[in-house]
Amino acid sequence: MKILVIGSGGREHVLAKKFLESPRVAKVYCAPGNPGMVRDGIQLVDINESQQELLVEFAKKEKLDFTFVGPELPLFEGIVDVFQQAGLKVYGPNKAAAIIEGSKIFSKYLLKKYAIPTADYWAFSDFEEAVSFIGQKNQFPIVIKADGLAAGKGVVIAESYEEACFALKEMLIDEKFGKSGMKVVIEEFLVGEEFSLLAFVRGEEVYPMVIAQDHKRAYEGDKGPNTGGMGAYSPVPHIKKQVIEEAVEHIVKPTARAMVREGRSFSGILYAGLILTSNGPKVIEFNARFGDPETQVILPRLKSDFATVIYELLTDQQPIIEWEQERFHIGVVVAAKGYPQRYEKDFLIPELEWQPDENVYYAGVSSDTLGLVANGGRLFLVEVSGKTLKEAQTRVYNSLTKLDHKFMFYRTDIGDRALSYYKH
Ligand code: ATP
Repeated sequence: MKILVIGSGGREHVLAKKFLESPRVAKVYCAPGNPGMVRDGIQLVDINESQQELLVEFAKKEKLDFTFVGPELPLFEGIVDVFQQAGLKVYGPNKAAAIIEGSKIFSKYLLKKYAIPTADYWAFSDFEEAVSFIGQKNQFPIVIKADGLAAGKGVVIAESYEEACFALKEMLIDEKFGKSGMKVVIEEFLVGEEFSLLAFVRGEEVYPMVIAQDHKRAYEGDKGPNTGGMGAYSPVPHIKKQVIEEAVEHIVKPTARAMVREGRSFSGILYAGLILTSNGPKVIEFNARFGDPETQVILPRLKSDFATVIYELLTDQQPIIEWEQERFHIGVVVAAKGYPQRYEKDFLIPELEWQPDENVYYAGVSSDTLGLVANGGRLFLVEVSGKTLKEAQTRVYNSLTKLDHKFMFYRTDIGDRALSYYKH
């Protein structure tokens, strides 16, 4: 098979590498990819993720078996519809279905209509009305979210009336997030342990993956600003099997059915960001694609041939999907100092000798004659596994001690949250 992965981050690196593991796969392209991927035999294509016509042309010329869309933006731009119209196989939801991530008002409407557990919510586009609602409700913290895409930055947990008003003003009056923030969702604040449950979904069919937990905040102890994600691990030992089963039965499956009923049948990766409250698991958010960095710790656990699974899902066949249960996987992101605010750039990333079972997935890197050069916030992620979470954590941090820290940083506590449960 010949496969194209669209996107350029660590998520796309692990997707492409996993495809290449298959004896049935001869070539994997990534558009536009990043130069760190070349080390794993992935071929870069100089077309960006929004150049739909060029991507279609490439897929036709190379007679690709299928294309896999990594990030959300091309999905919202309707790349799947364009490929399908051209008679090409492409994995991901179409534009009508990708709205489950693209509009928080839509996803909340869907959850409420079909009685799927989530936080209570209220939608507003008028500033005065939103402010007066906050005043009447007078319950803090309260969560304020921009309706559309805001790259993870459109969520404010307001601790007071003043903070809530400030966030509403930024979104509804100052248009800080442009069109994405012209409508807002105000949500009840939920307390509990968060986890990510992803599934291959094809209409009403749901094939759940193993779960992961990621760390979005920049600094140790889940402090500091929100980022794209600083590390993740899988499995999540403190989320019990029956909680996952409950989430699959009462959240993921009903959501897939609801999308079909709404005439927005979803085919692709459905990512449910969940929180385990005292009343059971509830939905925090949906994504219409794999998450980054969760994918870097989930996919290594897939025992089945990934390319075959996707091909079978695309051709109406029944996939057999098996997961490794024995080992713990942990991934730690190395970012440029300053990220997610203004960060260091253009420095050479030191070449380290990684062990064969230490996987390095590159993200914000370019290349020059001397090697890989930093040109993004999150630079790469190191993933290792162990028989226990503690072993995996010790191994990943031992391997990272080799790193020169001058222009880079990483969180030193990925996995601690789960390990703290063993101490109780
Ligand atoms: P992403 O970058 O994953 O797309 P997003 O912008 O879609 O993020 P959410 O996942 O909805 O934002 O929220 C970001 C974070 O804010 C969540 O991971 C969670 O920690 C917190 N959060 C969101 N909604 C709530 C809620 N109702 N109660 C408590 N915390 C919440």
